[in-house]
Amino acid sequence: MGIIEKMRLDGKKIFVTGGARGIGKSVAIAFAEAGADLAIVDLDIAEAEKTAAELEQNHGIKAIAIQTDVTKPEDVEAMIEKILHVFGRLDVAFCNAGICLNIPAEEMTYEQWKKVIDINLTGVFLTAQAAGKVMLKQGGGSIINTASMSGHIVNVPQPQSSYNASKAGVIQLTKSLAVEWATRNVRVNCISPGYIGTELTLNSPSLKPLIAQWNEMAPLGRMGRPEELQSICVYLAGDTSSFTTGADFVVDGAFTCI
Ligand code: NAD
Repeated sequence: MGIIEKMRLDGKKIFVTGGARGIGKSVAIAFAEAGADLAIVDLDIAEAEKTAAELEQNHGIKAIAIQTDVTKPEDVEAMIEKILHVFGRLDVAFCNAGICLNIPAEEMTYEQWKKVIDINLTGVFLTAQAAGKVMLKQGGGSIINTASMSGHIVNVPQPQSSYNASKAGVIQLTKSLAVEWATRNVRVNCISPGYIGTELTLNSPSLKPLIAQWNEMAPLGRMGRPEELQSICVYLAGDTSSFTTGADFVVDGAFTCI
């Protein structure tokens, strides 16, 4: 079998948090194209259902939508139960849901700080932990977390201390889980995207005005597109990445090199 055939995900059962739109949806499309069955997990159930229906219609795989708040342990537990009920197993988890608040540190309230840490860091822990428990019992699996280049650098000019701290946490959480579960065949990696054109960046009133400045700073002179994260996630989800665990893939058009 050739390398491209070996990278296919036929029959694998995958959940994608934040899968209704943006990066999560784009990567879910790639997983479906590669033959996987999908659970689209999101707070926004209407949009998640639309995405799941599109996947079934366009790719002939099975896709379900599950309304879940990744910050709530009881929601995450129910999400896993539903996946096991429908699919019988779980092979890959893409723990990707996240938000961003741009608030100067001296003005940030406790609630604002906690909201970002709860969704971006605790949410990734809860979903990766729940996936890991199933995969450890099954004898293997692959977990992919979404960090950010903001886990490596401090973005300017927007003040994003909570976001930057949460994403640095995701990188270190990824490495910790990878080491804990390495001998039990559960691999854990993360991606660290640079600026990507999604609702989070293109439609945020505080970020939209900064796009021209980011493009000027970027070595490639532009933001990335969600589909430019698809191939790395298909690679990490599949069996050809069997020696890849504890890794952090920076996909940022060299933004962190400057
Ligand atoms: P997006 O806003 O387009 O999509 C995020 C999705 O997450 C939405 O569908 C939203 O409903 C869902 N979500 C939010 N809170 C949730 C919760 N508590 N429980 C379940 N679902 C929830 O964002 P995106 O740009 O696609 O970002 C996806 C991930 O990529 C995030 O973790 C983000 O931090 C990260 N990221 C984005 C960029 C970028 O430039 N867009 C760069 C680096 C990292």
